[in-house]
Amino acid sequence: MHWKLLTYPQIQALDRSTTVPILPVGAVEAHGPHLPLCTDDLISEAMAESACRQLARHGLQGIILPTWSFNPAGFAREFSGTLSFSPELTARMLQDLAQSLALQGWSLLAVANSHFDPIHLASLKAALQELALAVAFPDLTRGKYARRLTSEFQSGACHAGQYETSIVLTRSPELVHQHDLPPVPHSLVEAIVQGRTTFAESGGPQAYFGTPARASAEEGQQTIEELGLILVESILEQRQTLPTSP
Ligand SMILES: [Zn+2]
Repeated sequence: MHWKLLTYPQIQALDRSTTVPILPVGAVEAHGPHLPLCTDDLISEAMAESACRQLARHGLQGIILPTWSFNPAGFAREFSGTLSFSPELTARMLQDLAQSLALQGWSLLAVANSHFDPIHLASLKAALQELALAVAFPDLTRGKYARRLTSEFQSGACHAGQYETSIVLTRSPELVHQHDLPPVPHSLVEAIVQGRTTFAESGGPQAYFGTPARASAEEGQQTIEELGLILVESILEQRQTLPTSP
């Protein structure tokens, strides 16, 4: 169910206590020579769709908000096509979105984020703490979630490699170009700790890390299931904190 495809009476009729708006958060950012600029959008949308399927088991339903793509993407700024925005915009957008939702009776927002640029992540986390409603936001870079994802993801070589290419192969295979590329086994996590600020400085001259050649739709399907489950668990956790929660 997509928010923007409904009419206002349809939104008005939704049960606020059992329906959860989910915001997919991505970027317009270079993802190697083989994946589209909207790769993080596609992954977050796949996560949101998977969560919607799994929420039904708990008597809940998700409704997917329009994807938010205009975010900080400084690490990819040297590559054509990347559009990078200031962190203040992320904070402002979230505040306004939360305000609109709260005014219409919503008390919980779920955030599906798969864009890990450090400035983006920091601004997102800071903004989410001050919103007018409760937020379910599993930060996938935290150990407790990262451990449930693939070994390449955990290695920090987690941009346009096997992990992300597999998800796009499942979700939108027509958008994956030739991905038989040489491995780039550098950790972006370590590069960030060392103070690097671009993909090229971090050892990724073609804006990818990891092993895209090993990607498969099977791995992508498994990861999408797990991402959806992680978001559902976070939603259930946050619902416990709501005053109206059963
Ligand atoms: Zn990505």
